[in-house]
Amino acid sequence: MKLAILDHLPDHLLELSATELHRHLDGPTLVHLPGRRPQPLFVSVLQHGNEVSGWEAIRRLLKGRYSRDPLPRSLVLLIANVRAAARGQRRLADQPDFNRCWPGSSGAKTIWHKLFGEITDHVRQLKPFASIDIHNNTGQNPHYAAVNRIEGQRLRLASMFSRTVIYFTEPRGVQSMAFGEFCPAVTLECGLAERLDGTDHAMAYLESVFNLDQLPESIPAPEDLELFQMIATVTVNDEIDFGFSSDASELRLLPGLDRLNFCEMPPGTRLATTLNGACSPLKAVRHDGRDVTRDCFRLADSEVVTTRPLMPAMLTTDINIIRQDCLCYLMERISLSGDSGDPRREKPQPELPETLP
Ligand SMILES: [Zn+2]
Repeated sequence: MKLAILDHLPDHLLELSATELHRHLDGPTLVHLPGRRPQPLFVSVLQHGNEVSGWEAIRRLLKGRYSRDPLPRSLVLLIANVRAAARGQRRLADQPDFNRCWPGSSGAKTIWHKLFGEITDHVRQLKPFASIDIHNNTGQNPHYAAVNRIEGQRLRLASMFSRTVIYFTEPRGVQSMAFGEFCPAVTLECGLAERLDGTDHAMAYLESVFNLDQLPESIPAPEDLELFQMIATVTVNDEIDFGFSSDASELRLLPGLDRLNFCEMPPGTRLATTLNGACSPLKAVRHDGRDVTRDCFRLADSEVVTTRPLMPAMLTTDINIIRQDCLCYLMERISLSGDSGDPRREKPQPELPETLP
């Protein structure tokens, strides 16, 4: 797998939807476009082939005003998984998840790890102004940005997209973590891929960032930022037959569960009904590997209910995603005290360790 680096956009590329890009690009492609300020903005789109808001935002931005005017700042664009995009899939069966193959990843190294390592080395030398990786998700979630370090410039960059910002350090091998070693880096989650508002929002955001002269280093004001930390992943136990309808023989999840995303659920919130008395159908595991199921959920008369205040993210009603990935992530709120940059929990919760590794 060889990295393609272009110093211009191929003719008519901006006319193509994500599903058509593979006809003109063989694989992951970096495109350098000059702008008035030479220090480039790095933007990555289509790491997941079905998450099209990033490509749609870039192509609308470049086809619009910047087809006539110079870009306010140089751009280095990564168009990542065009083969999966052609099929409308996150990744193909013979591919790993691209956003787990960047430097810092754990596990066996593939040709993709080598390729993303080369991209990282190449972009590091360009000393980018900032790095923005654009995604969509499934289920009802607000648009939000994510960071891998609690630090002024990246929180500024994140809060320009949304007041809701998530801090995470797992999984490893994500692009924003690799580039975060040498520039402020954020991941954007633009809601459902099929909705236009994700594209509109990403486009307006990119336009604002392109026009920034510099990024302030101070932590954003509390009214501009709600910061949450991902603390655990919730899965349905492997052997359990589950679903959202009466077809499920063992565990029936509540319909419309994804409406609870980013809601602070009080203890006793009902998530599912067990049909055969399975004792612990859900499993919550902290990102340090510790099982915290009993800290989070209990059974009350066949109902699976929460036992403590929890806030879920990425709850989905897509059975395949629940099976392949997870039911949701659990988060807790981080408050930032003054401008020292030290994260402080509002309420220490001794059952769950304070920080991720
Ligand atoms: Zn994604």
